[in-house]
Amino acid sequence: MQPFFAQRFAKVEPSFIREILKVAMNPDVISFAGGLPNPAFFPHEQLAVASTKVLQNHSNGALQYAATEGFAPLRQYIADRYFKQYGMQVSPDNILITNGSQQALDLLGKVLVNEGDNLIIEEPGYLGAIQALSVYQPNFQGVALNDDGLDLAELDTLLAEPNHARMLYGVTNFQNPTGLSYSLENRQAVAERLIKHDVLMIEDNPYGELRFEGEHLPPIAKLAPDNVVLLGSFSKVVVPSFRLGWMLMPDWLCQKVTIAKQASDLHTNGFVQQVLHSYLQENDLDEHIERIRTVYGRQKVAMENALLKYCPGIEFTRPEGGMFLWLKLPQHINAMELFDVAIKENVAFVPGQPFYVRPDILNTARLSYAGADEATIEEGIKRLGRVISQVL
Ligand code: PMP
Repeated sequence: MQPFFAQRFAKVEPSFIREILKVAMNPDVISFAGGLPNPAFFPHEQLAVASTKVLQNHSNGALQYAATEGFAPLRQYIADRYFKQYGMQVSPDNILITNGSQQALDLLGKVLVNEGDNLIIEEPGYLGAIQALSVYQPNFQGVALNDDGLDLAELDTLLAEPNHARMLYGVTNFQNPTGLSYSLENRQAVAERLIKHDVLMIEDNPYGELRFEGEHLPPIAKLAPDNVVLLGSFSKVVVPSFRLGWMLMPDWLCQKVTIAKQASDLHTNGFVQQVLHSYLQENDLDEHIERIRTVYGRQKVAMENALLKYCPGIEFTRPEGGMFLWLKLPQHINAMELFDVAIKENVAFVPGQPFYVRPDILNTARLSYAGADEATIEEGIKRLGRVISQVL
């Protein structure tokens, strides 16, 4: 039936991680593979109260079709939070509520990317962005992500080309998959280049609130507001199932993206937006996030200590927040092959290769510390250490 498929879909791959998660579902497996937030922090009782309240007051439109832009009080809440956190003066008119930040990637691809356009992406990069944007057939150009952010020399080389990319995608805090963040200097340097070369950045920030060490840094959107679309999400700080995210856009982009959203699904689920908003009115989000941060921070330390103990000589990143850390295995180890052995030893991780647009780097792996307690992390890393010694 091949002839029926649109050409644009020919190269879109299924998510490799979802395939891996199927294998890692076995309850005997200690899995560091998933990117799932820890369900212990889902505020189900508070959300039950909020749901009932919204249903009882449904005369305020919770069950009716609603505005494409999103529930106005929720957009105001998000705008106020940007001011509180980063001192950013933001109008709710520039915020569009999306069906998770994943939808924002699709909408931006739809509105901004032509087939064959150069599009710069950090490498390794978020697989979901590669997947969502590849529908629009860009030519991805990888720029290495270093310990302090984007590799500026590589970025400059690409931006010096006459037909250079007009778009750049990056996760500035606790990146998926590496856990790395852009330093303040790197953010400033990237902002300068966006302005100088007239490039639009998609700054994806679902993990920024989950900082357990160090100081919050300003988003690049604060430094170059006309050149950045900032994506946010409630998935990692409240619940992912609500599929509630947002984009903060410069004025010039709002109308087209709102039309794309309208064409795609009219609006994000209005009932769920009101339930979340009611939850945010009645509960202190900062206190809730503090609980998540404390536990993720402890689990990260447990994973680092276990790696030092059971996987000596293996390099890994030291994230200051978020859910992931990144292993660099000895050059000759192929993480895909290591995964097959690891599954037999009942431990799982995500091999790094699919996160690269130049897929010749085989010796990296992503581990999530979000979902397992400290004792389980120790046991899982002990198993991983055994697997690595076997392969060595
Ligand atoms: N961007 C990044 C970097 C992510 O890690 C994720 C979730 N895995 C998303 C976007 C999508 O999040 P949401 O649930 O808001 O669609």
